[in-house]
Amino acid sequence: MVYVNLLPLRPELASEAPYGAPQLDVPVLLNVNENPYQPSAEVVATIAADVAEAARSLNRYPDRDFLPLRADLATYLRRESEVELAPEQIWAANGSNEVMLHLLQAFGGPGRAAASFAPTYSMYPEYARDTHTRWVAGRREADFTLDPVVAAATIEAEQPAVILLASPNNPTGTALPLPTIEAVLDAASRVTVPDAPAGAGAVVVVDEAYAEFRRPGTPSALELLADHPNLAVTRTMSKAFTAAGLRLGYLAASAALVDALRVVRLPYHLSAVTQAAARAALKHTDVLLAQVDSLRAERDALVAWLRAQPGPDGTPLIVADTDANFALFGPFPDRGVIWRGLLDRGVLIREVGPPGWLRVSVGTPQEMQAFKDALAEVIGLGSRGGW
Ligand SMILES: *Cc1c(COP(=O)(O)O)cnc(C)c1O
Repeated sequence: MVYVNLLPLRPELASEAPYGAPQLDVPVLLNVNENPYQPSAEVVATIAADVAEAARSLNRYPDRDFLPLRADLATYLRRESEVELAPEQIWAANGSNEVMLHLLQAFGGPGRAAASFAPTYSMYPEYARDTHTRWVAGRREADFTLDPVVAAATIEAEQPAVILLASPNNPTGTALPLPTIEAVLDAASRVTVPDAPAGAGAVVVVDEAYAEFRRPGTPSALELLADHPNLAVTRTMSKAFTAAGLRLGYLAASAALVDALRVVRLPYHLSAVTQAAARAALKHTDVLLAQVDSLRAERDALVAWLRAQPGPDGTPLIVADTDANFALFGPFPDRGVIWRGLLDRGVLIREVGPPGWLRVSVGTPQEMQAFKDALAEVIGLGSRGGW
C-alpha cells in the first residue's frame, strides 16, 4: 500500500479498510446472512428468458424511472404487509446500501449529522463519512432494545438530519415495536435541520432488510408511512428473496421524499439487466418466499439449542431475541478462539457486534447440524482447557 502515500486521498480515508466480511472458500457459509437456498430452476429460467429479452435493446440506456419495477415492488409490499402504496412511493437501487447512500446524499451533508443506535449495522457510519455528514452513535440498552426516552434525548441533543433505525437490527436481530419508532418520529419532527425550511424535521429511515423473517405479530414500519412524510422504510431482495447477487434494494416513502432521491441518483443507475431480472424474480414471489417459513422455524430451533448450551462460565449461553435470519450469541472471553475453532471445522460465522459476541446466519438443516456439532466440540475444548 506504499503507493497510497503518493495519492491525494482524503485524510479521513487514509487509515480506512474497505468494508466486508472475509469471503473464504469453506463448506458451511453462515457469515453474511444470505439465504442458503438457491433460486429454483423455474425461477432461473424466467430470469434467463427475461434478461435475454432485455439484452435485445442494450444499445439503449435503461428506463431511468423504472416505474414498472416500482409498481411490481408496490404490489409485493401490499401482499407482504397489507399496506397500499403507489409506484411513485417506491425507489430502488443496486442494493439497499445504495438506497441508503441516496438518502444520505439527499438529506445529509456538511454541517448536518446522521444518527443511529449501536450496536447496529456497521455500514451506516460509512454512508455518513462518504457524504461528509457528522456521525452520531447513540446507544441501545444491554439487551439491545432501544429505549424511546434515551433515543429522543439523543435526537434532541444532536439534532441529526437523518436517523437510521435497523429493525430487525443487525447484528442483534432485535425488532423495534411501533411505539418506539413513533417516539423517534416524534422527536425527529422537532429537529431543526441546518439550512432546511423551518419545521422540516429530520428524515427517519427504518432499515427492514430482514423484515420477512419477523415473528408473527411483529409489525412493519410500512404501517406508519401514511402519517409520516419524513419516514422511509428500506427493504432488499438480498435476504428473504434469495437474490443477494442481484443487487436490488428498495424503499417505500412519501412521493415527495422519493422525488428528492431522483435528484442525487446517477443517471441510469439501475441497469436494464437488473430491472429485468428483478421483475422476473418478483413473478415467483411464492416460490422464492417458500423457504422463509422453514428458515424462521430453523432460526427458532437454533436459538433454543444455543440457549441450552453451556457458556464459558458453565451457565447457558445468552442469545439475543431475533426476528431475523441470524442469531447473536455469547459472550465469550475470547470470541476469536471460537470463531477460528469453527473455521477449522469448515464452518464460517461472523465476528461482529459487541466484544465477546458472535453472529451465525440460519442455513439449511444440514448446515445447522454442522454448526451445532462444531460449536459443541469447540466449547467442550474451551471448558476442558479452562478457557
Ligand atoms: C444485509 C443488510 C442490508 C442489505 O444490503 P443490500 O445492499 O440490499 O444487499 C441492509 N441493511 C442491513 C442492516 C443488512 O444487514
